[in-house]
Amino acid sequence: MNAPAFQLGSRTAVITGGASGIGFAIAKRFAAHGAAIEILDLQPTNLDAAVQELSDMGYRAHGEACDVSDSSSVDAAFSRILTRHKRIHILVNNAGIAHVGSALNTSPQEFAQVQRVNVNGVAHCTQAALREMTKAGSGVILNLASTVAQFGIADRFAYSASKGAVLAMTYSIAKDFLGHGIRCNALMPGRIHTPFVDRFIAKNYAGREVEMFDKLSQAQPIGRMGTPDEVAAAALFLCSDEASFVTGSAYPVDGGTLTLR
Ligand code: NAD
Repeated sequence: MNAPAFQLGSRTAVITGGASGIGFAIAKRFAAHGAAIEILDLQPTNLDAAVQELSDMGYRAHGEACDVSDSSSVDAAFSRILTRHKRIHILVNNAGIAHVGSALNTSPQEFAQVQRVNVNGVAHCTQAALREMTKAGSGVILNLASTVAQFGIADRFAYSASKGAVLAMTYSIAKDFLGHGIRCNALMPGRIHTPFVDRFIAKNYAGREVEMFDKLSQAQPIGRMGTPDEVAAAALFLCSDEASFVTGSAYPVDGGTLTLR
């Protein structure tokens, strides 16, 4: 009989933005499958609460307050992680911010800030992880892109640009480090019900929250938003040995958005 699938025992997984939403669901699921979890997040209060919740469930978890858009903050966090663990086996580049606006009404400052977090953040964490993974000769990197990297939705100029870059970086990393035993894939979530979406609705559609929630749900061919846990299940597959033949892929978790619209 085969050993149980999707085991991450004795592996260390660094999850950026892991204090909320999809990142926290990934942290919980990876921990349940045996991984030691290291969460990097900007929000210290949410970070402490997330680490506490994982610890209360009996899982191994630490948090590092870190701004992924700042390379020195990232390097310092990775150094501290490496005092606790011999290796970093898995990096999930999940931290990201949203933005609403077209090419005409997105200010240069807004555009730059979205790229700083969503693009530079992925680059900084990937570079820090690769320095360790290349020494070890193995590793897995998973990037949270989005369906908006592959089709147009209204008023997401800066955000779409950033997720297109994340997808392109995924292919570049997968290609360059194939010979080092390192796999790199992207997840392409459709709309997932997280605080990210609730904040978006509250900010842009005050007083019409229920109507907009319903409208955004129906935009997925499957007729609803996804859950963070549904994204975490795909993340577990892609970061496990069961996906050993999967690299350079863009894996949709989107209720049919990319193919059934
Ligand atoms: P969320 O807002 O619930 O969580 C994001 C986390 O990232 C937060 O804990 C936040 O503090 C952290 N973060 C933000 N900026 C940071 C920074 N500079 N440094 C460190 N941490 C930072 O969001 P979510 O919905 O769980 O989204 C997670 C990822 O999935 C994002 O990259 C997002 O673009 C992507 N995504 C989300 C959806 C969706 O519909 N929710 C769809 C497609 C892709």
